[in-house]
Amino acid sequence: MQRDLQIFNIISQELERQRHGIELIASENFTSLQVIQAMGTVLTNKYAEGYPGRRYYGGCEIVDQSEQLAIDRAKQIFNIEYANVQPHSGAQANAAVMLAILKPGDKILGLDLSMGGHLTHGSPVNYSGKLYEPFSYGVNRETGLIEYDKMEEIALREKPQLIVCGASAYSRDWDYKRIRQIADQVGAFVLADIAHPAGLIAKGLLNSPFEHCHFVTTTTHKTLRGPRGGMIMLGKDFENPFGLKTPKGEIRMMSSLIDTAVFPGIQGGPLEHVIAAKAVSFYEILSDEYGVYAQQIIKNAQAMSKAFVEKGYQIVSGGTDNHLMLIDLRNKNISGKKAEQVLVKADITVNKNMVPFDDKSAFVTSGIRVGVPAITTRGMKEEHMGQVVSWIDELLMDADNETKITQVRGAVNDFMKQFVLYPEL
Ligand code: PLP
Repeated sequence: MQRDLQIFNIISQELERQRHGIELIASENFTSLQVIQAMGTVLTNKYAEGYPGRRYYGGCEIVDQSEQLAIDRAKQIFNIEYANVQPHSGAQANAAVMLAILKPGDKILGLDLSMGGHLTHGSPVNYSGKLYEPFSYGVNRETGLIEYDKMEEIALREKPQLIVCGASAYSRDWDYKRIRQIADQVGAFVLADIAHPAGLIAKGLLNSPFEHCHFVTTTTHKTLRGPRGGMIMLGKDFENPFGLKTPKGEIRMMSSLIDTAVFPGIQGGPLEHVIAAKAVSFYEILSDEYGVYAQQIIKNAQAMSKAFVEKGYQIVSGGTDNHLMLIDLRNKNISGKKAEQVLVKADITVNKNMVPFDDKSAFVTSGIRVGVPAITTRGMKEEHMGQVVSWIDELLMDADNETKITQVRGAVNDFMKQFVLYPEL
């Protein structure tokens, strides 16, 4: 077979784009070469429906080992009793938890999408808002912080079966204990979706949800710096409250209901090549080096948010505890859409994002979301954040000046040469 030059040429172009730009999309990162290598292996050839030791296909003895390693390492990282590493993505992880514990029409309460929540937390355009009846809480207009009192008020009124916490664009830590207290008053389950800050939680830099939340889901490709994928975790396994029993009359534990919800509930064969890459990234997370990385993320985010504030930018909630910040551009007279466009032209990648109480649509938006996991992986430190913010400010303040854009793009490309990316490729 001839080599597919078209696709490999496109892949090379993407490598170059990643190398010479400043990547500030909060949900992106650069995996290690060994993570990429594990993904591009013969493990992609293997069907392995089921779980290690209990598959529906022959020849799974070897992938059983890599999947089991991924599970064991995940359990070790978070000091938990159960992990399912098969969800193909974060959205799939959330779908499986909901399938395991909810009936169509049940009520779920999550953070409003326009306030930083995720589509899978009850948006009307997502399965979570179509199959279940969604309600939402939000953040305070003045402080930008989660309104736990309102969450409680809605929970007491609507009596949801599930409360979802966690977000895609919230820069502060969560009070999981308070959320559990609210849930316990109405008999609701709590799902913490830690897709974004999981890597910081892994190293004890943010509150841990495991003690208080029944279910924890994550993606593996954001701060965790693994391959694109999802995972479901239980701090402690527990007896399912639905009285379900195995054919032998044994009580089925919640872990078993989650396993069944992932496969055969919402997925077929697991992506064993991706699961092996998850195992590799978990191995890396267990190292001290990754701990230094996670700390640097927080230092960089705080230095960057300070630099933005010094230039008169409004950060929602006034700052950040984690890896990202949401910038409200309304006092700068530029929309999120326009800001994203001009920055991309100068090889600085961010995404437009609605801000709380936004008066613009999701296609235009009044804000941008900025995150530092990827540039921290590139090796940037606090002292580089001021320079990045200066370029962003120059571009946003003169967004139609093509000469300026070209000049900044040149400076960005030169600057990024010192932060070598994938030298082996
Ligand atoms: N949950 C949260 C909080 C997210 O931010 C995201 C993705 O951005 C997801 C779930 C979905 O993850 P995926 O894109 O892997 O489906």
